[in-house]
Amino acid sequence: MQNQRFPNKIKVTTFPQKFEGFSEKQAKFYRKYATVAFKTLTNPLFQRFINWMILKESINEHTVTTIQIRALPFRKQNGNGLAGKFNKKGEISIYPKRLEFCRKLTREIEKENVYCYIKVRARATLIHELLHTKYSRDENKVRQLTRKYMSIFTCHGNLQKRNTKRVLQILFSF
Ligand SMILES: [Zn+2]
Repeated sequence: MQNQRFPNKIKVTTFPQKFEGFSEKQAKFYRKYATVAFKTLTNPLFQRFINWMILKESINEHTVTTIQIRALPFRKQNGNGLAGKFNKKGEISIYPKRLEFCRKLTREIEKENVYCYIKVRARATLIHELLHTKYSRDENKVRQLTRKYMSIFTCHGNLQKRNTKRVLQILFSF
């Protein structure tokens, strides 16, 4: 699962992590979660979309070196979880939602939709962190644009069935 690249040379890797102190069930869950996130972010259609967004927003692609899919959740000091992080070395880290949360979600919605949630969350986190590389601490602007680009991608996914070629033309002609 290593060395998948966006055409602009951003490398996506799964970050090797030890599951010490975790049960076999937890380890299995987080391994699977990382696999789903990895497949989602390296999906060719999504990669094209990200490259289009990078160009449209004039994001300097050289500020990002790697996108690391972390297997284990990140817990801030206040106890809240963190979806993603961008550091000075140009690394974007993508963290999973906690097992307990996903379990609760499975009880409320269908399992298929939990997968969908994981995928959408991974995409939105990457979009959000990429926008942060340009808009830095302007959280409102980043959130607003994340919503905008997520709806473009989602819309594109739905329309795809109807008229793939035309949508691709509209989306990726620049
Ligand atoms: Zn943010």
